[in-house]
Amino acid sequence: RNLALSADPPESKMSSRSTSRAPSKSRGPTIEDFNVGETLGEGSYSTVLLATYLRTGQKYAIKTLDKNYLIRKQKMATALTEKNALLRLGSGHPGLVRLHFAFQDEWSLYFVIDLATNGELQTLISRMGSLSTRCSRYYAAQIIDAIHFMHDKGVIHRDLKPENVLIDEAFRIKITDFGTAKIQDSGLEAERFVGTAQYIAPELVSSNETSRSSDIWAFGCIVYQMIAGRFAFSGLSEYLTMQKVKKMEYSFPEGFDQQGKDLVQKLLVRDPQQRLGAVTEGSDNDMKALYSHPFFTSINWKTLWTDPAPPLE
Ligand code: ATP
Repeated sequence: RNLALSADPPESKMSSRSTSRAPSKSRGPTIEDFNVGETLGEGSYSTVLLATYLRTGQKYAIKTLDKNYLIRKQKMATALTEKNALLRLGSGHPGLVRLHFAFQDEWSLYFVIDLATNGELQTLISRMGSLSTRCSRYYAAQIIDAIHFMHDKGVIHRDLKPENVLIDEAFRIKITDFGTAKIQDSGLEAERFVGTAQYIAPELVSSNETSRSSDIWAFGCIVYQMIAGRFAFSGLSEYLTMQKVKKMEYSFPEGFDQQGKDLVQKLLVRDPQQRLGAVTEGSDNDMKALYSHPFFTSINWKTLWTDPAPPLE
């Protein structure tokens, strides 16, 4: 079963070498090559640690996954999907967490990924109550730009939410958590899809149909949440939340930015093909319509990833 990680494509820098084997000259790193520091967080099947790569002094986050636990909980496919999605995405976009190395030893799998020192977007929203229109616009622009790239590469995230949007040192976003992604034309996807009720699109509630457009729906929920400081759809239980999604039962609080409202209304549309930026049958990716929405007028898309982030407010 440990063979899972040894199916690396030849172009990858990944090493699946066990630490117990004799190192060769050009060996990839092992956990011994890192100075492992504090725990950054715990997931349901992983622990994320701060680590310094001894060869370069570069700091990373290392996601460690216990193999026995993965096997026991039947999460090996999730781990493999995460790794393969990250490999597919490569280093192509600043708004996506990059996988630098993957290796394993007898007990664990290790994914060495970009460090995001400012935690999750969810924490920022909770701490601030809600984000200013300016900040919401900035983060929304970066999120949609990253989604655009991801979709072009054939990766549908399927669990976009502010917990999975990390914030780096420069307060730029990095989307993470590709364990439930769908990697198009790979035959790979986690068997059972479980998204998060508050961000799940109506077509997923009713027929479990996945498309890029369900990521666009989740994006609409995130934009709503940044501006309003609360979920667009929320009930007392997951079931009740999903009933609200099904009925499209949500409303805007007073004072919600007008252009933001217009954007959200064009994203939270029942028909997946009618969502702003969705791919319509037989036509190309229509992200341009989203980029040129009036909410984004003041965004300079060319300098989006080099401009300093607006102050948090
Ligand atoms: P689950 O797997 O249950 O959905 P999760 O996605 O939060 O949970 P992980 O991706 O393992 O699980 O992350 C665990 C925690 O570690 C996160 O809550 C986050 O705060 C922190 N974390 C994850 N990745 C990084 C990173 N690249 N840089 C800094 N902190 C991180």
